[in-house]
Amino acid sequence: MKKKELILFDFDGVIVDGMNEYWHSSLLACKYYLNSKDICSDINTNLKTSDVFISLRPWIKYGWEMVIITHEIIKKNNPLTDKNKKSFLADYQNNCAEIIKKNSWDSNNLQKCLDRARELQISNNFDKWISLYNPFIEVVKFIKYAEKNGCQIGIITTKGKLFTQKILEKIDINPDFLYGYESGSKPEIITNLINDFKIIGFLEDRLKTLLNVANNSQTSAVPCYLADWGYLKEDDRKNLPKTIKLLKLNDLKNKLANFD
Ligand SMILES: [Mg+2]
Repeated sequence: MKKKELILFDFDGVIVDGMNEYWHSSLLACKYYLNSKDICSDINTNLKTSDVFISLRPWIKYGWEMVIITHEIIKKNNPLTDKNKKSFLADYQNNCAEIIKKNSWDSNNLQKCLDRARELQISNNFDKWISLYNPFIEVVKFIKYAEKNGCQIGIITTKGKLFTQKILEKIDINPDFLYGYESGSKPEIITNLINDFKIIGFLEDRLKTLLNVANNSQTSAVPCYLADWGYLKEDDRKNLPKTIKLLKLNDLKNKLANFD
């Protein structure tokens, strides 16, 4: 039997821009749920999204890392700034691990802090919370077009499934599959889907994730696309391997224009 075609999308940075929400929810997580001596308890949660936070976003894989980075930015002593961020990024993963160790945190608990900050906003003022997300209209239109043409749509994200679901409802996208951080790694999820579907594209803005898929013998046949409009590091667009194509929003627009 012929396999159905399936397109896979990452969520944050590909379908939506949620930068203001990431910052705001991380601030709330620090204020209400994080136990830290290094920050004052009276955090101003109306702070404008930090430029340092924005510039570090391409390094982040999981939500709990955003809580760590926000903690470093709002610290009383020796905060993370534009001037010292280079050394932080030079050893990003170890620096995050050091902060966790120093504070006796663990990543699962940090993730819970972030999730609770999101739950708090959803129960207090859902409309305000959701308004912090901006969909990429071209991507939303492209998904609808692909669905109309008989394609299955899958979304795989390192965000919690429940939160992703709420945002998808708001922007009127109803995927056939939705996997959150609870479902395991992206290469694992894709490996399972390959048995039943012909995957015709995987759109993602984290190059490392795409490389993991492209270099995995189980998933290497999946066409990989780096979303140019997402949270990319400056060098990501340079020297892409042949297995990964850079996709621009205009490419999607052009594709749609041919069918309007
Ligand atoms: Mg992303």
